[in-house]
Amino acid sequence: MIQLKGLSKVYGDGSDAVYALREVSLDVPQGKIVGVIGASGAGKSTLIRCVNLLERPTTGQVIVDSQDLTALSANELTQARRQIGMIFQHFNLLSSRTVAGNVALPLELAGWDKARIGARVKELLSLVGLEQRAHAYPAELSGGQKQRVAIARALAPSPKVLLCDEATSALDPQTTHSILALLKEINAKLGLTILLITHEMDVVKRICDEVAIISDGRLIEHGEVAWFFSHA
Ligand code: ADP
Ligand code: ADP
Repeated sequence: MIQLKGLSKVYGDGSDAVYALREVSLDVPQGKIVGVIGASGAGKSTLIRCVNLLERPTTGQVIVDSQDLTALSANELTQARRQIGMIFQHFNLLSSRTVAGNVALPLELAGWDKARIGARVKELLSLVGLEQRAHAYPAELSGGQKQRVAIARALAPSPKVLLCDEATSALDPQTTHSILALLKEINAKLGLTILLITHEMDVVKRICDEVAIISDGRLIEHGEVAWFFSHA
């Protein structure tokens, strides 16, 4: 579902150049949960931001659902990005909008009509267990609830892929477990492909099918989690 081919990313140039990714190739199969783990500064965040071209790779290709995103025009890329939801460590909700308003946002931008948005928002809030908080504002929610809203918003346009950028790193262990359980449930129920980055091995153990290890911009291992933990 996601194929990264020979991705490199260099920030800056000359003597200031930082080689954040070096020839990274990775296949994320449809319906799987793949985790990329590595130390701070290893290149995880650059890697995941290259998948929806929030960051443009210096060289290499990003293929999502058989489409080479690096070859698309700006308009085509806007369309293609609807296939790719993303959630973040700090949730990135709009504080001026309610829970329902945040979830509705990508659908408003995609030009859906009001009635269809209302029905879809209801369905999404029920999926993440927040039907009762539709009219609350982000400031009234716990961290776990905020991440549930962000998940509902990311899923609103029915993406095929969900990118998770340290999605549980700001949460306590118990909330982390409930968010990971929700992601696993969504993966099973919707067949959604999930690529996540984390610095926590426990996250990988809990929900990932496959793990890739990144160090100094290179992918140094990639395999099934079950195999990995029986040989590590
Ligand atoms: P991680 O997510 O694993 O902590 P990052 O992808 O954030 O790693 O960073 C990889 C390397 O790229 C680090 O050396 C970091 O300092 C550098 N880097 C990241 N973003 C930028 C940027 N916008 N400009 C310059 N260097 C950057
Ligand atoms: P805001 O004022 O924060 O922009 P609203 O509360 O007006 O947001 O709602 C934004 C969107 O969410 C609207 O399109 C509306 O149809 C939908 N919406 C609002 N409340 C609900 C609800 N309880 N269940 C489902 N959808 C809702």
